Amino acid sequence: MKIYDVIVVGGGHAGCEAAAAAARLGAETVLITHRLETIGEMSCNPAIGGVAKGTLVREIDALGGVMGLVADAAGIQFRVLNASKGPAVRGPRAQADRALYKAAMQACLAEQDNLTIMAGAVADLAVDDAGNAAGVVTEDGETVRGGRVIITTGTFLGGLIHIGTEQSPAGRMGEAPEHGLSRRFSAMGFALGRLKTGTPPRLDGTTIDWRGLDVQIGDDVPKPFSYLTAHIRNPQVPCHITHTTEAGHELIRENLDRAPIYSGAIGGTGPRYCPSIEDKVVRFADRPRHQIFLEPEGLDDDTIYPNGISTSLPRDVQEALLKTIPGLESAVMRRPGYAIEYDFIDPRELRPTLETRRLPGLYLAGQINGTTGYEEAAAQGLVAGLNAARAASGADAFVLDRAEAMIGVMIDDLVTLGTREPYRMFTSRAEYRLNLRPDNADLRLTTKGDAVGSVSSERRRRAKEKSDAIDGARGRLARIRVTPPEAIKHGFAVRQDGQVRSGLDLLGYSSISFDDLKSIWPDLSDIPAAAAEQIEIECHYAPYLARQKSEIEAFRRESALSLPLDLDYASIGGLSAEAREKLSHVRPETLAAAARIPGLTPAALTAVLVYLRAHESDSRRPRVGVAEA
Ligand code: FAD
Repeated sequence: MKIYDVIVVGGGHAGCEAAAAAARLGAETVLITHRLETIGEMSCNPAIGGVAKGTLVREIDALGGVMGLVADAAGIQFRVLNASKGPAVRGPRAQADRALYKAAMQACLAEQDNLTIMAGAVADLAVDDAGNAAGVVTEDGETVRGGRVIITTGTFLGGLIHIGTEQSPAGRMGEAPEHGLSRRFSAMGFALGRLKTGTPPRLDGTTIDWRGLDVQIGDDVPKPFSYLTAHIRNPQVPCHITHTTEAGHELIRENLDRAPIYSGAIGGTGPRYCPSIEDKVVRFADRPRHQIFLEPEGLDDDTIYPNGISTSLPRDVQEALLKTIPGLESAVMRRPGYAIEYDFIDPRELRPTLETRRLPGLYLAGQINGTTGYEEAAAQGLVAGLNAARAASGADAFVLDRAEAMIGVMIDDLVTLGTREPYRMFTSRAEYRLNLRPDNADLRLTTKGDAVGSVSSERRRRAKEKSDAIDGARGRLARIRVTPPEAIKHGFAVRQDGQVRSGLDLLGYSSISFDDLKSIWPDLSDIPAAAAEQIEIECHYAPYLARQKSEIEAFRRESALSLPLDLDYASIGGLSAEAREKLSHVRPETLAAAARIPGLTPAALTAVLVYLRAHESDSRRPRVGVAEA
């Protein structure tokens, strides 16, 4: 029987990225998923990216992942959100054609060497005599063998759909849930929890009255996600905007007893920041209306996704609600909205590699870890895939820290703090966000991806080309020298202090752009746009970036102090019972991770540090060492 290096279960966003990453590293990989035709399915909104999520996509891409390329092939409206704000909060986003997205993902996996794709439902795990993951068992009783198993089953574990008072067991609408794996995880002692998420009804676009609705168009020049995509080729389409009304809010209030989240039928916690329309009406009772984006699901598909009215109200209430919304008075509902409750595994069960602590060789990625969102899932899939493949070949772990990637922030949050509600990425979660921007993901990560064999030679070449262009441009700008009177002559309002300023100094003024310099020194026009953008950001934010750099250095010093996984916290004097319990439960891998455990005081951290230092020379005791990365 064939023994695979890596088995990936689930062909959603985490599974596709995990399978592609493991296979890219040369691991013999098999992807097992329910149905081949649902590989790459977007279960909810037909869009990729956004603020922070767009940065995740760029990071995935910079590390050789597939999501950015697939989104570029499927995007039908590209917009950079917050384009007029600071670079750290800009969010590349694309409306996607669902069918094109799936097709592009399936084509991408089909082309991947070392990857076998199988249809099947996995019902159990195989464990060897030494207590390591050894494969999976399908519903038909077939065992697929492999020493590294990545489970990415999304909302399928114990999935239960709610539409009003109707309940039906399902992993997604029309797809059976999975119970065997849930039972197995419980039996092994994994901490499981219950979460919920929801989706709006889908509408027949031909029955919407578009007249009078606000139109939202994409950017004039669509900006791709992937550093490898030169141009977006799909036609770009508009979205429309409407809103709920007081009449609709009244209808919702009258029917709250039939809404499962208010009737008590749903126990799981939903995403606070992505509430259902019934939630919004209750929580923001003073708001007279809520915005709804009418998003096309595809170029050849007239289905419309009304973003903003996710709901699990009964079908008749959903239909009545549509009649109260401008433009949707006669809209035909093709599929009702619904809420889904599902099991997730407490991510504190995981190491930063996404391998479970409880069962060596078993990795978890995506919604099963308590996250929500395609991008969050894909980013975890990439990390799990890279680590599983590296572990299979005996290589060391691949971990991104909080200062080098949003992906690092997310995984560190999950494995250190766990989550009580569906976890979504926000820029505010990243303390070094000025560094973790969507524009510089390649500069931050491609070399690191290259070092583990995850990026193509073309990607390596382009990243090097960009970095060389930035160095070259920096040198040229440094050589431009202007006196204050010359600067004034060029229209730059600088102080008349006798100081000669370089091109870089001039870019340090927020009022002076690279384009301004180009208009005075036209020979700068040959500097590539991507390099010019970096230099401009670097100069505009120089003092803040310098401060962040020293903060990052301090963080790295703390991160370099690794805490042995078997550290006996009970034997550390000076720790309160609460601190001992928290540290023993989370088992942080570095002092920096320990510092983020809520309620852990600086005194407790000092006690741990003193203990480790005192035992440093004792060969029988764990050493204070440099964390593996
Ligand atoms: P999925 O994309 O769900 O993929 C799971 C895959 O595993 C599927 O291919 C499935 O067939 C396969 N699978 C499951 N069990 C087995 C098994 N036992 N054997 C073999 N294959 C198996 N995200 C947002 O950002 N915003 C939202 O508003 C939002 N709303 C959502 C609403 C609904 C109703 C749902 C279902 C999801 C929603 N999401 C939303 C979440 C988003 O769809 C997920 O976060 C994302 O798809 C998770 O990716 P994943 O790879 O973890 O799982």
